[in-house]
Amino acid sequence: MTFDCIVVGAGPAGATAAYHLAKRGRSVLILEKAALPRYKPCAGGVSPAIAEWFDFDFTPAIAARWRTFAIPGS
Ligand SMILES: Cc1cc2nc3c(=O)[nH]c(=O)nc-3n(C[C@H](O)[C@H](O)[C@H](O)COP(=O)(O)OP(=O)(O)OC[C@H]3O[C@@H](n4cnc5c(N)ncnc54)[C@H](O)[C@@H]3O)c2cc1C
Repeated sequence: MTFDCIVVGAGPAGATAAYHLAKRGRSVLILEKAALPRYKPCAGGVSPAIAEWFDFDFTPAIAARWRTFAIPGS
């Protein structure tokens, strides 16, 4: 079996790359060393700039919106 692309790592970067490659018609193999779903520390935040990279609606997953935030001690 052959693939156009092999992506190593199914984190946000690898999964996003694989998504966009597949959307453009490439066959993609993702190699992930961890058992999925892997433990993934996350605060649950997504920048609007990141959301623009995707062609699907993030709205159903949005619980709250912030226009500004401050990092304690900064
Ligand atoms: C506590 C915490 C909270 C966070 N909260 C947020 C947030 O709210 N919003 C946000 O946008 N970001 C958040 N981040 C940052 C976010 O987690 C990282 O920016 C993101 O995970 C980076 O994605 P990545 O795909 O580059 O790397 P990773 O997420 O590290 O993914 C890499 C993947 O590659 C796999 N891998 C590694 N080596 C190999 C190998 N040799 N073979 C096969 N697979 C391999 C790993 O198992 C992993 O699944 C948070 C981070 C932390 C620590």
